[in-house]
This record gives sequence, C-alpha cells and structure tokens, in this order.
Amino acid sequence: MKNYKIALIKGDGIGPEIIDEAVKVLKAVSAKCGFALEFNEYLMGGCAVDACGVPLPDATIEGAKASDAVLFGAIGGYKWDNLPRELKPETGLLKIRKELGTYANLRPAAVYDELLEASPLKPEIAKGVDLLIVRELTGGIYFGEPRGRDENRGYNTMVYTKPEIERIAKVAFESARKRRGKVTSVDKANVLEVSQLWRETVTEVAKNYPDVTLEHLYVDNAAMQLVTNPKQFDVVVTGNIFGDILSDEASVLTGSIGLLASASLGDKYAIYEPIHGSAPDIAGQDIANPIATILSAAMMLRFSLNEEKAADMIEDAVKSALKDGIRTKDTARFGAIKVLGCKDMGTEIASRI
Ligand code: NAD
Repeated sequence: MKNYKIALIKGDGIGPEIIDEAVKVLKAVSAKCGFALEFNEYLMGGCAVDACGVPLPDATIEGAKASDAVLFGAIGGYKWDNLPRELKPETGLLKIRKELGTYANLRPAAVYDELLEASPLKPEIAKGVDLLIVRELTGGIYFGEPRGRDENRGYNTMVYTKPEIERIAKVAFESARKRRGKVTSVDKANVLEVSQLWRETVTEVAKNYPDVTLEHLYVDNAAMQLVTNPKQFDVVVTGNIFGDILSDEASVLTGSIGLLASASLGDKYAIYEPIHGSAPDIAGQDIANPIATILSAAMMLRFSLNEEKAADMIEDAVKSALKDGIRTKDTARFGAIKVLGCKDMGTEIASRI
C-alpha cells in the first residue's frame, strides 16, 4: 500500500480547527482509495514564537523537507502584531516559502451555482466564473534588495530575472493546457522595466505552447476586468505583488473567503493552504468554515500525491454538501437548509466520501 508523509502546520487562530477537519476528510478518502497517510505536526507562526522564540523553527523546515507535502492552516493574531519584523508570524510564512522554493502560488476561484447570491457581482456576471490565478511567490518587490527606511524615506525594489519569469510562465501554460487553454499575463509594462522583461519573456515561453492562447493586460485594467467581465479569464499569471492583490480581488467574486483553496508549488516541495488568515475574531468558537482547507487537501492529493481520484472524491463531497444546503455560519444567508459548526461540517463532508 502506498504511504505518504504529510507535514501538518496548524498555526494560530482557527488554524488547528480547520486542519483537524481536513485530516478527518483525508482519513476518510485514504481508507476508500487504499493508500495510507502519516501525519506529523510542526510549529510555525505565533505558536512557534511562544514555544521556541522564532516564527519558523529549523525542525519545521526539516520536517517539511522530509515529507511528501505540507498542509498548512493559517498564522498570525493580535498577540504577535507588535513584534519586530524578524519575529512576526508572517515572517515564518515568507521564510518557509523561500526555504522550500515554492515559487508558484495557484489559487482557483470558481463561483458555485448554489452560492451565486453570495457573490457581490450581479448573478449574470458571476455565474460560471472559473479562473485560476498563478502568482509568482518568491521574487518581486517583497524580496528585492535594496530595501529600507529611515524617518523620511522608505524604499523597496521590484526585480525579476528571466529564469524566474520563465518557470512561472511554464506553470501557467501547463495549467492552461489542463483547463480551457488561455493564459492572461498581467504586468505594468507601460511603466516598469521589470514588467517589460516579464512581457517579453512570457511571450517567448508561449512559443512552446502553440495550443494555448496568450493575452497581456496591464494590472490596472486587469483589476477592472476581474469585476466587469471575469468570465473571460481562464489562467491569469502575474508577479508577486500584483498577484497578491488580484487573487484577493478574485476571491471575493466567489462570495466567501472560507471556500478558497491554494497550492504553492516548487520543483521539489509544495505547501497547501486556505487563502484566508487565522481569523482570530472567530477562533475557538467552532464556527470557522473548514471547506477552503479541505479543498486545499484535495489539491495536495492531485498535485503532490497524484491521487487524482481521491481529489475528485473530496471535491464532489464538498459540492454535494453545498448543493444540499449544508452551510457554516459565514455562508448561512445563502440557501442554507442546515447550518453546522466547523467540526460537524468536517464530519458531514467526510461522511459523503
Ligand atoms: P482573515 O482571513 O483571517 O479574516 C478576514 C475575515 O474573514 C474575518 O472576519 C474572519 O472571521 C473571516 N474568515 C476568515 N477565514 C474564515 C473561515 N474559514 N470561516 C469563516 N470566516 C472566516 O484576515 P485578517 O483578519 O486580515 O487577518 C487575521 C490574521 O491572519 C492576521 O494576523 C494576518 O496577518 C493573518 N493572515 C494570515 C494568513 C496566512 O496564514 N496565510 C493570510 C492572511 C492573513
């Protein structure tokens, strides 16, 4: 029997609650599909600062590297907000992405028919939206040097190298091949030199994918198009900061942050996590929506473990629960027949596997 090692990083706030439910569903699906999962827990974020004095202990990096994949909840909270930069929980997350070389962040955003009303867009604009944002995650302005500040001046550097652009473009084109065959590359090439290199390089990579259509958009236009005509998008590829902003914008189209999964892929390692944060305002109340994390676990089965059938089973179980009006509190206004807590939602989805 195949046996996979999964590193669990529960993190802070609702992190432990939502990871527990994803594990429940993973156990159900592995039993049905005949493979075994070994789970090992590691610390990161505020809980790691409290326990070890750093947001990312070495043991976590080693444990992650020794695993087939990392399933991560969320980090952060009021308690750690005023720590110096090197101790902030978020620093742990940026560092693990860099350590594991997870340069490609994949964020699907699809509007479920059952939750059409939850979208802030008119139903005729939102219906059928199904896009994937591929965001470069380990380069760009969040990592560029020099950076710094004094009392009167702050500065950062947006830098991309050709190999960095090529590898993220490849991820986008490969993903488009498995979807509807279209890539929209987003940049600011009318103003930024770094974006001119981005545009030229993506255009070169496209020559190897004649079956995929490529278009380019400036980021300001892309931000408008995402809310006026989101159905035009299949795969959107962009750099770190533009992707950060556009992927959050895309996520609200779907109506609930609690439903959206993500994968951060590198050549050797991968991290799977919900797109939302640690939601300290609802932590410990058993009302968090575990679906984003459960769908992240499905992405993990698909991308890292090649257990496509098991991934489909999880996604189908989620869809069937939503179709039957099973909701958590965050989506209760939209067609709820039964509103469950976090734990019961996990149990419900696991029972539908
Ligand atoms: P957040 O995503 O944690 O919460 C935003 C709002 O959405 C809150 O009202 C929250 O209750 C709600 N929400 C989020 N996830 C939910 C879920 N699964 N079910 C139901 N409701 C949910 O963003 P925030 O409030 O800006 O940040 C809180 C903390 O999380 C901060 O410390 C921030 O730095 C951190 N954060 C961490 C990550 C991460 O770990 N990847 C990402 C974003 C923010």
